[in-house]
Amino acid sequence: MDAQIAGNAHVIDGKAFAAALRERIAGAVPAFAAATGRVPGLAVVLVGDDPASAVYVGSKGKATVAAGMASFEYRLPATATQEEVEALLATLNADEAVDGILLQLPLPGHLDEQRAVATIDPDKDVDGLTPVSAGRLALGIPGLVPCTPYGCLLLLQDRLGDLSGKDAVVVGRSILVGKPMAQLLLGANCTVTLAHSRTRDLPDIVRRADIVVAAVGRAEMVKADWIKPGAIVIDVGINRLAPEAGAAKGRLVGDVDYAGVAAVADAITPVPGGVGPMTIACLLRNTLVAAHRRAGLADPDGF
Ligand code: NDP
Repeated sequence: MDAQIAGNAHVIDGKAFAAALRERIAGAVPAFAAATGRVPGLAVVLVGDDPASAVYVGSKGKATVAAGMASFEYRLPATATQEEVEALLATLNADEAVDGILLQLPLPGHLDEQRAVATIDPDKDVDGLTPVSAGRLALGIPGLVPCTPYGCLLLLQDRLGDLSGKDAVVVGRSILVGKPMAQLLLGANCTVTLAHSRTRDLPDIVRRADIVVAAVGRAEMVKADWIKPGAIVIDVGINRLAPEAGAAKGRLVGDVDYAGVAAVADAITPVPGGVGPMTIACLLRNTLVAAHRRAGLADPDGF
């Protein structure tokens, strides 16, 4: 799904891929409803009134409804206690209409995020962040995997087909992106290097890679001379530059120097419009899959 060329590189159109995936998900909902008498349900929990989080929660809700699923939104005040958050999550664990639970992060500072996340039933953990989900991924047994790295994997497989034997370098080792990305690539039989802020000779290491995934949070850090000609570059980073003169907002850029790297790579994801749109599409995919497994049905075909 490469509509454009930048430099020498195909531009991987994550927006179009995600739209097609969302459409396929919506197409699979009626069969689930016919088999179970209900549609898959996703509950999103927002604690506090962080404006950016409220926007994310709103767009997740809209996308859920657009896919024909049930969306449940729960808001707790910024003053909510750990016990109140965990009690709500326990209620959602027990709610038969809820197949997926997403606790919007970050939580207000007085709350223990890890403890709250660990309360979520792993079979409803559509963000893939509970210790059980991470353990299942590490063990290679079926579970729910974090949405952003899963979206990256889908884009890579769409471009390359079988990833077996590819050299993959993931830059960034966060729980949310880098670590699960490395596990997913390992599961797809890549030879994986997981780099981070203490990695020595990072450009040399990245230069070995057939597949580069940058998830660092540093604007345009990965340069053209770090990239092996013909590599595939997936840019997870979202960074806002300082506004140029006269502009209210700065430009959004990734962790990769897009123009430079596009001259060397075989394919690259743009920012915005690359990995970003895949995250919500994969959240819906996880909800659909969780619903099937909870209902004792086989995983839906092609997901
Ligand atoms: P974190 O801040 O949690 O992790 C950043 C990682 O980058 C850390 O492992 C850190 O290493 C590593 N790092 C920092 N500086 C360097 C360096 N100079 N050289 C090598 N490695 C370095 O970020 P996230 O993983 O949550 O997010 C990464 C980026 O992806 C951000 O821009 C974020 O906005 C974006 N993002 C985009 C999403 C999307 O939907 N497109 C979803 C999630 C995130 P160490 O562990 O040693 O500190």
